[in-house]
Amino acid sequence: MTISTERAGAALRTASRQDDLRARAADLFPGGVNSPVRAFRSVGRPPLVLDRGSGPRVRDVDGRWYLDYIGSWGPAILGHAAPAVVDAVREAALCGFALGTTGPREVELGERVRAAMPSMERVRFVSSGTEAVMSAIRLARGATGRDLIVKFAGGYHGHGDSLLVEAGSGLATLAMPGSAGVTEAAARDTIVVPYNDVDAVAEVFRAHPDRVAAIIVEPVGANVGVIAPLPGFLEALRELTEANGALLIFDEVITGFRVARGGAQARYGIVPDLTTLGKIVGGGMPIGAYGGRADLMAHIAPEGGVYQAGTLSGHPLSMAAGIATLNLLTPVAYEMLEATGAALESGLRVAAAETGREVAIARVGSLLTVFFRRDLPHDAAQALDADREAYARFFGAMLDQGVLLAPSQFEAWFVSVAHGDAEVGETLAAARKAFAA
Ligand SMILES: *Cc1c(COP(=O)(O)O)cnc(C)c1O
Repeated sequence: MTISTERAGAALRTASRQDDLRARAADLFPGGVNSPVRAFRSVGRPPLVLDRGSGPRVRDVDGRWYLDYIGSWGPAILGHAAPAVVDAVREAALCGFALGTTGPREVELGERVRAAMPSMERVRFVSSGTEAVMSAIRLARGATGRDLIVKFAGGYHGHGDSLLVEAGSGLATLAMPGSAGVTEAAARDTIVVPYNDVDAVAEVFRAHPDRVAAIIVEPVGANVGVIAPLPGFLEALRELTEANGALLIFDEVITGFRVARGGAQARYGIVPDLTTLGKIVGGGMPIGAYGGRADLMAHIAPEGGVYQAGTLSGHPLSMAAGIATLNLLTPVAYEMLEATGAALESGLRVAAAETGREVAIARVGSLLTVFFRRDLPHDAAQALDADREAYARFFGAMLDQGVLLAPSQFEAWFVSVAHGDAEVGETLAAARKAFAA
């Protein structure tokens, strides 16, 4: 009796809850996941099944905690389950969910967004970053009467058809140039040029005069790992678009409220015509937003002829989480994010040097990538040249020590205000061992 109970216990322990859920997820979902990068394929590990987040840490369903740098892929700038955000969402939920009309929280969050990013004179809330970008592109075409869109290789702007070419981490990790199912017609009006290459952009305008509706750019590249804009790059995009009657769209879905409260446009002092947001602005709830010059936004229905709608747009729970999050993103919070990012960067550099490991560390504020290559990449081709297998080994060694990094060489690590000195110390101690391994 005793023996068989013990055996049953041992059997339960070896078949962990994670194994069970993974198997059931693998049966249900393509790749076992509801978004490709969650499959952890490029790091050769089974996908984690997490059920709890608190501050800088997350827990798997077997009860193991990890220091987290995935940060919900960007939104978790306060860490997980920040009490003020939880309270705001609870309060909003008690008032009913989407009521299908304008609500007070939409107005409140919209005003905060505009105050942080004055270029967004008028705003529309949607439910994802993908939707924000698709809408901004449609608006750019509708407002200019032109068809062509210029994007940069490695730039990810959601999974809308016309921008799903040479589009960053998810595809790069799977070594796919683009997606099946995107028609030639949808891809034909998209021109792809290398990031940080002003000459290539100028050449597009020479080759296609009066045909470019917009340039869309991540003002800090964050989807093939972090790539900072070289001095003068964003300025040149502003000048070239203006000179050629095209619009400049900053896709700040990651950088908005991340690299500064006012996003990359504040950090680099450039005023785009249109901006797309997502991730942080929803405080971890589903959200997207786009906005810009009032005369352009007047083209959106019902004021104008560019149609865009959404049943759950401006959802009260997303608005509540966004407002509560922005309330906590004070100037001091950004100083902390910068300091933590800098401490991680310099500590990782020292740890790599001590172990003779050749890496280049790219960082803008609290966005960071350890590239397993000698020099900092300035475009996607250089980034993709990094040693993914070395990264996979590094990732695995960190995970085994309880530090959860971005599960791809081509994703940013997201630092939160909940990451303090103790967490940096813990990360660096693990990194010294992982670099050596
Ligand atoms: C994540 C991301 C998107 C897409 O946002 P979703 O909410 O995942 O649809 C668009 N642009 C950039 C720069 C992103 O990082």
